Amino acid sequence: MSVPEIFGSKVFNDNVMRQRLPREVYLSLEKTKNLGLSLDPNLAESIASCMKDWAIEMGATHYTHWFQPMTNVTAGKHDAFAVPDKNGNAIMSFSGKSLVRGEPDASSFPSGGLRATFEARGYTAWDPTSPAFVRDGTLYIPTAFCSYTGESLDEKTPLLRSMQAVSEQAIKILRIFGNDKVKRVTQMAGLEQEYFLIDRSLYESRLDLKICGRTLFGAKPPKGQELDDHYCGRIRLKVADFMKDLDRALWEFGIFCQTKHNEAAPAQHEFAALFSSANIAGDHNQLTMEEMRIIAKQHGLACLLHEKPFEYVNGSGKHDNWSLNSDDGKNLFSPSANPATNYQFLVFLCAFITAVHEYSDLIRASASCPGNDLRLGGYEAPPAIISINLGNSLYNVLKDIAEGHNCTSSSKNYLKTGVDILPSLPQDDSDRNRTSPLAFTGNRFEFRMLGSSQSSAFANVILNTAVTQVLKEFEPILTNASDLQSAVYSIVHKTISEHGAIIFNGNNYSKEWVEEAKKRGLPNISGSVDAFDSLVKEKNLKLFKDNNIFSESECIARHEILLDNYVKVITIEASVMSEMLKRQILPALIKFAGKISDSYNDMKTAGIDNSEIRSIASQLSEYISELYKDSEKLCDMISHIGTLNSSHDAAIYAQNELRPFMNAIRTVADRAETITDKSTWPFPTYTDLLFRV
Ligand code: ADP
Ligand code: MG
Repeated sequence: MSVPEIFGSKVFNDNVMRQRLPREVYLSLEKTKNLGLSLDPNLAESIASCMKDWAIEMGATHYTHWFQPMTNVTAGKHDAFAVPDKNGNAIMSFSGKSLVRGEPDASSFPSGGLRATFEARGYTAWDPTSPAFVRDGTLYIPTAFCSYTGESLDEKTPLLRSMQAVSEQAIKILRIFGNDKVKRVTQMAGLEQEYFLIDRSLYESRLDLKICGRTLFGAKPPKGQELDDHYCGRIRLKVADFMKDLDRALWEFGIFCQTKHNEAAPAQHEFAALFSSANIAGDHNQLTMEEMRIIAKQHGLACLLHEKPFEYVNGSGKHDNWSLNSDDGKNLFSPSANPATNYQFLVFLCAFITAVHEYSDLIRASASCPGNDLRLGGYEAPPAIISINLGNSLYNVLKDIAEGHNCTSSSKNYLKTGVDILPSLPQDDSDRNRTSPLAFTGNRFEFRMLGSSQSSAFANVILNTAVTQVLKEFEPILTNASDLQSAVYSIVHKTISEHGAIIFNGNNYSKEWVEEAKKRGLPNISGSVDAFDSLVKEKNLKLFKDNNIFSESECIARHEILLDNYVKVITIEASVMSEMLKRQILPALIKFAGKISDSYNDMKTAGIDNSEIRSIASQLSEYISELYKDSEKLCDMISHIGTLNSSHDAAIYAQNELRPFMNAIRTVADRAETITDKSTWPFPTYTDLLFRV
């Protein structure tokens, strides 16, 4: 079948609804979706019945309320359509109520203490803006998940709240600029997903990869990514087959696969979907990550979505391309030919700059997780300091306006290739600094800090909320102005003079930037735990509350969940490390040291006293003693963490004591690996893992 034929074939999409739903129901549902209104409950019955019939034709026997608890993965219980009629025969049933609302037991999902005070029951509520689909015999219904009393317990609820908030506030600004037609502004997201693919059987033989998603040991391989020969290189056949199947699966789910290529590290790749409404893009990204894992397995591969599966080569991120689109099809971040006179654009641009400067601690928090701590600032990913790269021409426009100069508006530069037959290419000035955490890339901002395994939702919640707040503050300046141009120019002036410090067009990887950022007073929050604390700062609690995103108790709960998760992840890593040390590495070293000693004695008996062999044996013996002591201390530290009273103390201990100690152990074990017989080493080496697909 051709791509247009398979595209969306598993989705209860607009085409299916238009064909199958009674016309008035279809129109009403469309209106609900487009305007973000609540659904008329009378329609649910009709939609549910139609959805059920379609799903059964697609081979579904079950349905599930699919939701995103705060675990970075998705969840759902599968309910059968089949129920007994009064004669005990099976009939297929699915009511409007079952479509709209589910009541899963919330007690086994992270709730950050909300569960302690309220009933354990949670609710899932149908999100009609993200289409349902059939997958492996089950109808998947995207839903939001909240507690018995309505507190959000998931990623989607706050995202939808923030999308609503930014829409309402953006429309108010559009009205000031004379646009009285727009009814909805949608935050769009384009997500780029990095990942590794390695051989399945090698993956299966490493406990660290299986349990933690990353290697806890592994000596530096002779070749990493230094030759730059993998990036965008020819895609190996096995990987190409995987990508082909992935494309197909995603097309069936109505996801537009936009690009695929090899990334910088060996065995690393990237996939990007075409941008769409942030809510759908987030759902699609979750689905993509799940399909990647499944399809990899079918191809004898393992897909690693961890931020730092391997030391010594690049880690993986997720780029979140953020913009606002009005329902008349316009991108509010499109600068047009002359940004200096595009007043509406200037207002939105300044709102974004101000928002990032004011709430950079929250933006940093949105990209924080145990995995990303291993990646940020590692000369492969943006540093922990938040800044914006605007590109020189746009920055000059703002500066000229702010300083009251006549605007020397940018005319495009053209590349000189020196070859007449090649076309002349306009130079895209804004985008080419790849080191910035947030870059303006022509008509959107690209947030490059997110970790590959993270849900994109929270980052978008933060960006939407912060921008909403600043637009709210701009509103009276604009409404009270007698002259709109001077009001806009005063906003530009204020933005550059008070928030210009957040703009940096240079190399974010350089040491000088760290110094410079310090002078500018920009926060440099190096660890996740410190970043999480920004969620419960007075100023930020107020931001969330004023914009109806999170109540104070929701913020406190989220903070608690993030800390708790951090502690658990690192404790699990430490336990895996301890097991690998005691049951794999130490026995292997002892065995090899024994072999070496035997050889030494055999040779000595034959009259040869080889001091090199003796020194290898004694080096191994030192490693054995050191690693044995370390493994004992590691166990003590794991026990100690359990005795700490607050999750904050435990998280600080995990971040500042346990992780560094684990690094130290790794260094010793990796050295031991380099002098141990390969056939005795108990698991595959880095060269095996990175170059054997
Ligand atoms: P790069 O590697 O240069 O960052 P890619 O082509 O890999 O670029 O990815 C760009 C991403 O940005 C894609 O997901 C694309 O759909 C998305 N995108 C393009 N325009 C917009 C926009 N206006 N709003 C949000 N995302 C966008
Ligand atoms: Mg990118």
